[in-house]
Amino acid sequence: MENCLFCKIARKEVSSDIVFEDENFVVFRDINPIAPFHLLLIPRKHIHSIDHVKEEDKILMGDLILTAQKVARSHKLAGYKLHFNVGRQGGQVIDHIHLHLTADLPAQTGRKP
Ligand code: AMP
Ligand code: ZN
Repeated sequence: MENCLFCKIARKEVSSDIVFEDENFVVFRDINPIAPFHLLLIPRKHIHSIDHVKEEDKILMGDLILTAQKVARSHKLAGYKLHFNVGRQGGQVIDHIHLHLTADLPAQTGRKP
């Protein structure tokens, strides 16, 4: 998609703080975090929203969850939240599917002090 902000981030036409990328996904820090740790996970493929996911995207969407797990583990998060906003009424502002990964602490060890 020519004018999609997140497609431009995936193509590196717009700069972002990328923490992970592979052939299918780009993971970068949210520019306006709602939690101390806040990443956005996007597929390189332009999909408008969860409401636009098709049968052919099943494997990609499963891999998106596994990518979230991998990135959370690599940051040693003890716990985290994953969410999609879907549609304007659901709080979606950017029309390229993205999974929010948030955590209260940037590098929880899971160990008690
Ligand atoms: P949503 O409301 O689910 O569409 O979330 C869009 C998210 O994208 C918001 O949390 C924004 O802070 C974030 N965002 C918008 N522009 C950028 C950008 N250029 N780089 C990183 N995050 C962005
Ligand atoms: Zn896009």
